[in-house]
Amino acid sequence: MLKLYNSLTRQKENFKPYGEKVTMYSCGPTVYYYPHIGNMRAYLFMDNIRRVLKYNGYDINGVMNITDVGHLTSDADEGDDKMLVASKRENKSPWEIAKYYTNIFMQEAKRLNIDLPEHICPATTVIEDIIKFVEGLLDKGYAYETSKGIYFDISKFPDYGKLSGKIIEQDKAGARIEVDKEKRNPQDFTVWIKAPKEHIMKWESPWGLGYPGWHIECSTIGKKFLGDHIDIHTGGVDHKPIHHENEIAQSDCLEGHKVVNTWMHLEFLQVDGGKMSKSLNNIYTLDDLIAKGFEPEVFRYFYFMAHYSKQQNFTFEAMQSAKNSLYSLKQLTLEHKNGKANINTEEYEKDFLEAINYDLNMPIALAVIWKMLKEEKSNDIYLLMMKFNKILGFDLDCKTEEIPEQVKELANLRWNSKLNKDWANADMYRNKIADLGYQVLDSKDGYEIKKI
Ligand code: AMP
Ligand code: ZN
Repeated sequence: MLKLYNSLTRQKENFKPYGEKVTMYSCGPTVYYYPHIGNMRAYLFMDNIRRVLKYNGYDINGVMNITDVGHLTSDADEGDDKMLVASKRENKSPWEIAKYYTNIFMQEAKRLNIDLPEHICPATTVIEDIIKFVEGLLDKGYAYETSKGIYFDISKFPDYGKLSGKIIEQDKAGARIEVDKEKRNPQDFTVWIKAPKEHIMKWESPWGLGYPGWHIECSTIGKKFLGDHIDIHTGGVDHKPIHHENEIAQSDCLEGHKVVNTWMHLEFLQVDGGKMSKSLNNIYTLDDLIAKGFEPEVFRYFYFMAHYSKQQNFTFEAMQSAKNSLYSLKQLTLEHKNGKANINTEEYEKDFLEAINYDLNMPIALAVIWKMLKEEKSNDIYLLMMKFNKILGFDLDCKTEEIPEQVKELANLRWNSKLNKDWANADMYRNKIADLGYQVLDSKDGYEIKKI
C-alpha cells in the first residue's frame, strides 16, 4: 500500500485516487531566469512521485503550470512582476523572456531525465479561463473589486490558514505591509490585477485591462486539466503559507468542496546553512556542475540520498560521493548482467517496494539496492535492477560500456602500486590502460575507469 505524507492532515495516509487515473498538479517554474539545482530538486521530487505511482500500476493525468505572468517579486502580491524585471534586465520583451527561459527549463528537465507531466501549461494561454474563474468567485460573493483589482475575501473561507497553521488574527498587516484601505482584510489577495498604463503583459477583461495574479493561475489550470478533484498537489515548502493557502481558498470556494486531497511539499536544498536562492547569490546550475565534472545524472543520485521532506545540504564533497556511488552502481549492475549465480531476489523486490511506498523513502531504497548489488553476480539481480531503474531513471544500460576484465585488472594493479607508493609501476599500468583505450581518474576514496 502506497503511503504519502499529506501536509494538510500532517499524517502519512494510504493513497487512494478519486477516479480511475491519478490526477496530479505540480506548481511549475516562473520563467524569468536560469533554474538552479534547488529549483530542479523540486522537479526531481515531482518525477519521484510520478515514477512511484507508475511503479504501483497507476495511470496519471498530470499538469504543471509555467508562470509567464503575474508572479510578483514577493509571493504576497507585492513588488514588481518578475517577468517585467527580467525584461528590463535583459532588454527583451516579457514574451521573449518567457520563451527563452521556458526552453531552458525544458532542457534542464530533459538533462535530469525528469518524467514530465502529461500537460504543461503556460499561464498566458489560459487567460480566458482565468477570467471565468474570477467571475465565478465574484458571482458567489467570495471576491470583490477595488481600484487596484479583484480581491479574494479570506473572511469568507473559515479554513484559511489550515495548511500552514497560520493564525489570521495575529497576522495583521504589519510594518512591512502597507495597509490598503480598500481591502476588507489585510490578507485578502489579488486574483486579477488592474494593469497600470506602463504594464506590458495585459488583457481585456470585464474589469478593464489587467493580468492575473499568480495564485489564480494554478487554481484555474488545475480545474481546466484535472477537474474539481485533484489527488496530489506538489510544490516547495515556501508555497505553503501563501500560494497554496490561496489556491485552496479559491478552488474550494468556487467548487463548494475540498478540491485537493493530498498536499505534498519538498524541503529546500541548502548551501552553507542557508536556502539556495538567487537572492542569496549562492546558486549553482547544472552547467556549473558539469564544469566541475558532475553530469546531471550525478545530481539525480544526490537527490535520492536525502528524503524529500528533509533539507539537503549541497556540497561538492557530497556530489563526489554521489558520483562515486553512481559509478559503482552502474559497474556492478553491468557485472550482474552476465552473472551465473541463482539468487532469490524476492526479498529485495519487496523491501524496495516497501521503501518507495513508505512516503518515497529513497535513502532506504538505495540501501536495499546496495545490499543486493553486493551479492554474487547474478542475471536475476541485473533484471531486477532494470525494474528498479524505472524509479531511479539512470542511464544504466545504454551509454555505459562494460569495462573489459583486463582493464579492470590493470587498474587494480595500478591502484595497489599507488598505495605502495610504487610510482614507476603505477605509471606503467596507467600507460597500459591508456593503450587499451581507457583512463583512470582518481578520487579521494578510489578511482574510476573511463573510455578515452
Ligand atoms: P520559482 O521558479 O522561483 O517559482 O521556484 C520553482 C520551484 O523551486 C518552487 O517549487 C520552489 O519551491 C522551488 N525552490 C526554490 N528554491 C529551492 C531550493 N533551494 N530548494 C528546493 N526547492 C527550491
Ligand atoms: Zn502553484
